[in-house]
Amino acid sequence: MLDADTRGGLYYSDVSTTNSGGGKRLEVVTVNARGFGRSIFLHSPELEAYSYPEDNPFRTERAAMTREILMSHGMLSGRGRSEHEASAAERDVLEKFHVRRYLDAIVAAEGGQLDIEGLQMGLGTPDCPVFRGMYECAALACGATLTGAHLILDGRADVAFNPAGGHHHAGPATASGFCYVNDVALGCLMLAERHRRVLYIDVDVHHGDGVQDAFYDRSDVMTISLHQNGRTLFPGTGFPGDIGVGDGRGFSVNAPLPPGTYDEQYMRAFGAIVPPLAGAFDPDVIVLELGMDGLSGDPLGGLKLTNNVYADIIETIMGFGKPILATGGGGYHPGNTARAWALAWCIFCGEGGHDDLVGLGGIMLENTDWIAGLRDRVLVVEAVEAGEIEEAVSDTIRAVEANVFAIHGL
Ligand SMILES: [Zn+2]
Repeated sequence: MLDADTRGGLYYSDVSTTNSGGGKRLEVVTVNARGFGRSIFLHSPELEAYSYPEDNPFRTERAAMTREILMSHGMLSGRGRSEHEASAAERDVLEKFHVRRYLDAIVAAEGGQLDIEGLQMGLGTPDCPVFRGMYECAALACGATLTGAHLILDGRADVAFNPAGGHHHAGPATASGFCYVNDVALGCLMLAERHRRVLYIDVDVHHGDGVQDAFYDRSDVMTISLHQNGRTLFPGTGFPGDIGVGDGRGFSVNAPLPPGTYDEQYMRAFGAIVPPLAGAFDPDVIVLELGMDGLSGDPLGGLKLTNNVYADIIETIMGFGKPILATGGGGYHPGNTARAWALAWCIFCGEGGHDDLVGLGGIMLENTDWIAGLRDRVLVVEAVEAGEIEEAVSDTIRAVEANVFAIHGL
């Protein structure tokens, strides 16, 4: 059962006031206007043939599950929304970010040849095992993200969503955290190559280290990552003092959050940090890594979020009025993850927002055929726990403001 009064609706008021400290003011567009524009769902039928080994928590089938949910809701066709089939990224494109020897090592490992160098590159570990089709699997997931980038560059999409993407941990020559090919870094690179100012927002429970590192000395791609504190979770990085170097100083932003962080506090951090910086940076395009491992009950993450907060985040980001290239990412409860991505898609399409619920006039529905059935119930947080979390979140907000806001005139 879903209660529109208690579930949320308290977050939006922050959006228009958070950038009152000066700097360029961000125009906040009213979202949920039923028709943000053209939303394209990226789908790789070939990807369904591949999966990580059974004992690995990363489940590639989450993308197909998301698609099935959306098809059952009739949400993949109709006004302003469509599907687009994507194929694998070509090797020369992958080489724009990854070194050749690393890509060779993946192919060799798949063929049964894993040497010391391959091991040092992170291949053959519990997180990044060697498995049949691993190169194709990574190249397909990446191909869909890059297709999304093209669709946005060509002006054919306002939102492109690839739930199979979001492999934000991979480095130029390293596999890490279930990630082999960093499709999001490549997506940002492709957009930046075409002279777009890119705002990368990463709401996965883990720090978006691979993408941050790729642009650590650049000012044309700003990376903002909100994640569970690296002292308590892989990859152990992403602290407020990590703000970039050289030209990139102030263009890497990190907001570590304490275990147990719940919707209201997550949104408080997001609202305090992201809209002001987005306003100051004034991007041409937003790349959004929507890992769903921050959801309560995720077997790897320790946050206590519901999918409602991701819906709120998406509405806030849509309010920036810029094209959005969105990807999946983590999310190790496959059912919850797929449902959250399905909800995310509905929000991108201007459906399932607060107005839809308010319009119910207090009637409670538990009909999963209706879009509100995708939303999680409210989670109750103990007062003692809430106090500690609130304090830690305030510390993070203050640290981010102190470290980077002045650089952007905020
Ligand atoms: Zn993650």
